[in-house]
Amino acid sequence: MIEPERQAALDAIGAEVAACTRCPLHQTRTRAVPGEGTAATEVIFVGEGPGFNEDRQGRPFVGQAGALLGELLESVGWSREEVFITNVVKCRPPENRDPEPAEIAACAPFLARQLAALDPALVVTLGRFSMARFNPGARIGQVHGTFAEANPESGAPNALTYAMYHPAAALHQGSLKATLLRDMKGAPAALLEARRRRAAGLEALVEALELDEPERGPRAERGSEPGRRPDRQGDAFAGSLRSVGPVAESNLTDQLTLF
Ligand code: URA
Repeated sequence: MIEPERQAALDAIGAEVAACTRCPLHQTRTRAVPGEGTAATEVIFVGEGPGFNEDRQGRPFVGQAGALLGELLESVGWSREEVFITNVVKCRPPENRDPEPAEIAACAPFLARQLAALDPALVVTLGRFSMARFNPGARIGQVHGTFAEANPESGAPNALTYAMYHPAAALHQGSLKATLLRDMKGAPAALLEARRRRAAGLEALVEALELDEPERGPRAERGSEPGRRPDRQGDAFAGSLRSVGPVAESNLTDQLTLF
């Protein structure tokens, strides 16, 4: 997908989310919160669900936790405008309670479609509900500040996922702020690693196609033979060649030593 197509897909999902009645959360919401950011990014941040301020404004992470997220982004030279920010559930759970499994399941197709549209290299998870979508079975206390291959069922089959505590946790437990800042320092290096893997995947794909080509004749005639990589894979690797990233590569290299 090229950037205007990514944006159009995100806009269409946003319109559906705004009118969604798939789970009971729509009955108590003021506004649904689809997410926001740029379609050109390689990085998506996924939180848990809207809180009081987000519900009022229809925008993600605009309250106190959002201010801390802004600080975290700034600490590595990133900004809200250069990434995409969304949540596992798009409507506020009453009294900010944890989202229920049925609510998460009802909302999952929206998140999966956002991921398909963005084809991110890196998914930064904020909190355990988000982490569970991309790294099922992991424990946040053990994996925060580390990356893993994203669970393909999440909708981001060619992404790395990077686990962080939820910024709101630091509002209740002050000592977690230092942990969040330290973990954030590793995110740019995780992005570099994600880019490296996607470039290697693209190279392997091109090599496989070149090896494939002489014996099999023109690609157009081959159709969908068993054993061929799906086109989706090619699209995803092509996405890794997008030149627009959250920060210039030169700003990232010094982060590598921290990782
Ligand atoms: N907490 C979240 O998980 N998401 C928001 O958008 C705001 C607070």
